[in-house]
Parts: sequence; C-alpha cells; structure tokens
Amino acid sequence: MGNHEVVTGNTQGTEKQTESLNLLTSTQTVIKEALEKLGYQESMYELLKEPLRVLTVRIPVRMDNGEVKVFTGYRAQHNDAVGPTKGGIRFHPEVSEDEVKALSIWMSLKAGIVDLPYGGGKGGIICDPREMSFRELERLSRGYVRAVSQIVGPTKDIPAPDVFTNSQIMAWMMDEYSRIREFDSPGFITGKPIALGGSHGRETATAKGVTICIREALKRRNIDLKNARVVVQGFGNAGSYLSKFLHDAGAKVVGISDAYGALHDPNGLDIDYLLDRRDSFGTVTKLFTNTITNKELLELDCDILVPAAIENQITAENAHNIKASIVCEAANGPTTLEATKILTERGILLVPDVLASAGGVTVSYFEWVQNNQGYYWTEEEVEEKLEKVMVKSFENVYSLSQTRRVDMRLAAYMVGARKMAEASRFRGWV
Ligand code: GLU
Repeated sequence: MGNHEVVTGNTQGTEKQTESLNLLTSTQTVIKEALEKLGYQESMYELLKEPLRVLTVRIPVRMDNGEVKVFTGYRAQHNDAVGPTKGGIRFHPEVSEDEVKALSIWMSLKAGIVDLPYGGGKGGIICDPREMSFRELERLSRGYVRAVSQIVGPTKDIPAPDVFTNSQIMAWMMDEYSRIREFDSPGFITGKPIALGGSHGRETATAKGVTICIREALKRRNIDLKNARVVVQGFGNAGSYLSKFLHDAGAKVVGISDAYGALHDPNGLDIDYLLDRRDSFGTVTKLFTNTITNKELLELDCDILVPAAIENQITAENAHNIKASIVCEAANGPTTLEATKILTERGILLVPDVLASAGGVTVSYFEWVQNNQGYYWTEEEVEEKLEKVMVKSFENVYSLSQTRRVDMRLAAYMVGARKMAEASRFRGWV
C-alpha cells in the first residue's frame, strides 16, 4: 500500500514539493536519526535499514469456479538478534514488498518499546479477501504456510493477524503448520481462537493498548477523557473496539469511518448500534446516506484523532487542518514524516504507531508464553499485565522525548532500536 509520491504545498504557485509516501524510505530516515542520537556508527544503520531476510512466494489456489489463480506473498524477517521474529500477516490488494519490509522494521521497534524477547517480522499476500469465499481463503492460508514453512516456526518466526486476517485464518495456518511438522504447534502463530490455544484478551488487545496510550496522553495534557470528543478513522479490529472502550469510558465518539465513507454526529454516535451492524471487514457506513468523506472526517473538530485504518492518511496536505490536540496512531504508518513535523510544530501531541499499537503484539507474546508453558491465564491477568506494560512503555517514550527534546516518534524509535542494536553488537554482527 502507498508506495508513491504526491505533490503537496502551494499548488497554485511555483513552490511545488514532492512528499514521499514510501513507507520503507520514511522509516529508514527515522531509524538513521534514532541510531545517530543513540551514538551508533553508520554500520549499525546498514544492518538495521533492511530486513535480514525477505522471502517472496507464489501460491497457486484452486478457486471455487475450478480455475487456478496464483497469488504472490511475502514474509520479511527484520532482525533476530533479540529472539525469534514476530509479526502479523496481512491480506490486501495493495500489499507490496516495500510495505512488508517497512512493517517488519516497525515490528522490531514495537518489540523493543514494550520489551519483548522478539525481533520483527511481517507477512502479506496480494489478494482481496472481501471478494473471496470462505473455502478459497482457507486454501490460500494453507498454501501460504506451505510456501513459507521452512523459515517460520515457534522459535524462528511467529505470525499473527493483521489487516483483513483473523482468528479463523490463524487456526487454518496453525493446523497446516502442525500437519507439516507432524506435531501440535500452537506456539507457531498467535491470535488463534481460544479453543485452539488463543489467549483471553488478544482480540481486544490493540484497542486496549491504544486506549491506555490515549489516557496517558490526556493526563500529560490535563484533558479529561469524560466528554472528550474523539474521531476514529477505521472500524476494523482496532477502530471498532477502541470506539467502544472510549465510548464506555465516557468520551464522545463524534466520527467514525470505513473504507467507503464516514459518519459524523457532534452529539456522539451510537457506537453499540454501529458495532452490531458492522460486517467482518469493518464496513458499516454503507447503511447510511448522510455520510461524509474520510478526508472530511480527519479534519473534524475534536480533541483526539485516532487514525486506525491504513497508511499515509495525514500528509503535508491536510496536517495543517487537523483540529485535534492529540493524534494517537492505532494503524501502522498513518502519518507521513512531513505531517509529523507539521503536527509537532503546531503543538499537537502525536503518539506514534510503534508505541500506540503495540498492545496487540504484547498480548501475542502472552499467548505464546501460555502456549509454551501449557498453562493458561484469566482475562484479568492478561489485562493487568498489558496495562503495566503499556503504561511503562508510554512513560519511557514520553520522558525520553522530553529530556532529548525530540518528537515522540523519534523517541519511540530510539527506545525501540536500543535493545536490538545492543543484541546485534553483543552477537558480534556489527
Ligand atoms: N499485526 C499486529 C501488529 O501490527 C500484531 C502482531 C503480532 O501480534 O505479532 O502489531
């Protein structure tokens, strides 16, 4: 998704500027800066700027009409100095190799920020699951596992859900991997159904983590969550649960959206009704006629804006029009570097994706630990542990951003890269 450039700035005059929307080059820019600030040599950047390994696979799938369609998929493993690599698999028509690479780097950073014994990995398949049947999706999921089985595993690289993948897909993948290896391998993948070794609290973990980050950010700005006006872009796993948690905590969710449009009500939307009517891909606005566009949604008057959909949503083009005083990134890469600069200059507190969305991988780690020890925790235990991890991680990043006078994205990259760089150095790689 999003590997192109847009012309921004004064489009009537001569000062046209090109803003890069390439996720890989953007993340490399910040990694470089973070490593410099941490005092590392250029060779550390050379090691960390790209994944150690990227596998491209071609997956033939027999479609329901009898024809064979060949899909392209990827698995990127960024750095395994700290431990096995970990990260989700997305199914989306705009998946690209650069995107998967950037996402694997972000997973390394997330693992570093919440201090998990993992490096980062990521997978993706170019496909549109909204247009595929249940059985076609099963065959595609199993085919992907067969194609990458040599490089994944419970102590090598542990996948999980991401955009348009869910616990059913994790179940098929776990079953396929267990068949290939000929032993039950629940620790091969996380985000499984509870009946197959999934963890309580995994389904809601990303949204819980974002909610905790919003609460912590509000404290730093002396804003009360009660009656705070929130806009959430995206109504998938993260966006829908997040809207519910914020609504239940007394905030007013004044805007939500899906891929087709957005809803706005300055008095607060009926979140329970919308949750009830959304489909499994998070689509709900098709039921309404009085919709606004996603572009309009982002510029609504509110206190907190949560981009929880896809990349490159807040750019140099609209960053000046954002009215929120806190932007908390639940999606991966929703704000460009140019826009990060503009928001920071405008005094808006930006909680970066690698921190805000790390609740998902944190509970994935809890799931993997439970699978490895064969002893399962209650929902309360999971939530208590997640709360502690997120509060501590937020404070680490926030206080570093204050002491080093850098924005929270750069501070998060510094915290996230530190352990991975140390581990790579101890192993003698750099
Ligand atoms: N896909 C999620 C993320 O981007 C979760 C990854 C995981 O649980 O391993 O953070």
